[in-house]
Amino acid sequence: MSRPVLLVTGGSRGIGAAICVMAAQRGYDVAVNYQSAAKAAAEVVAACEAAGAKAVALQGDMAREEDITRVFEAAKEALGPLTHVVNNAGITGRASPLAQADAAVIRTCIDVNVTGAILVAREAARALIANGTARGRAIVNVSSVAATIGGAGEYVWYAASKGAIDSLTLGLSKELAPGIRVNAVAPGITETDIHGVSTGDAARVGRIAPLVPMQRAATAEEIAETVLFLLSDAASYVTGSILRVGGGR
Ligand code: NAP
Repeated sequence: MSRPVLLVTGGSRGIGAAICVMAAQRGYDVAVNYQSAAKAAAEVVAACEAAGAKAVALQGDMAREEDITRVFEAAKEALGPLTHVVNNAGITGRASPLAQADAAVIRTCIDVNVTGAILVAREAARALIANGTARGRAIVNVSSVAATIGGAGEYVWYAASKGAIDSLTLGLSKELAPGIRVNAVAPGITETDIHGVSTGDAARVGRIAPLVPMQRAATAEEIAETVLFLLSDAASYVTGSILRVGGGR
């Protein structure tokens, strides 16, 4: 039987990288999209190959339609028709109360997290519909607990962008049933570079972790486990679900 083929957007670092490596360990061939971290993407590809998978790194800005279509075509060219997609690439923009936020920060976040993610979902739908004979086809979008908490004082625009991901997940799951399942994972605070690099607040994890009922941040691997479940046939009757992985938050 042919191996499932997975594309992960933003697969070079953090949660996306953990998903790529775990998927390779579980029998998927993996296309690792990245924006600028070529070295990190190459390391993820090497880890996937070490697990016995075929893997390829594909540069592309997931806010740009032409890059999105090119990355999907290149993934198919390298690994064969896609069976699974994880719509993971996302940013926050520098944290601040909304009253002090620049329009450019808000716009860039919405470009990547909303317009880009919807275009990625559209390409995923096209690719998985075209691969009509494959069993187990599934899409997982990466939302956030921020969608339902609101991100007050930090990034309400980011919280709003993840609210859009939840709506996208519900609607697209109905459009693509019964053949293709569409779900989302909503992580709580997770130890990745996003806090230092994207949010500009490297101390954020240490500050917020004690406030989480589980009293710690998640690891990227704990989020990846849930994504892998939703991708798998173990979740064969799960669609249109937003699975919160927030340690009680
Ligand atoms: P991260 O460590 O900052 O990694 C972000 C990844 O996305 C990198 O691989 C990056 O590529 C890629 N990326 C960013 N903008 C891109 C673009 N325009 N096109 C293509 N790739 C792009 O972030 P993370 O914490 O793993 O976050 C992953 C997802 O989880 C995001 O959607 C985020 O909103 C969500 N999330 C995270 C947390 C958390 O606490 N960490 C909580 C809830 C939800 P380069 O390496 O090339 O820069």
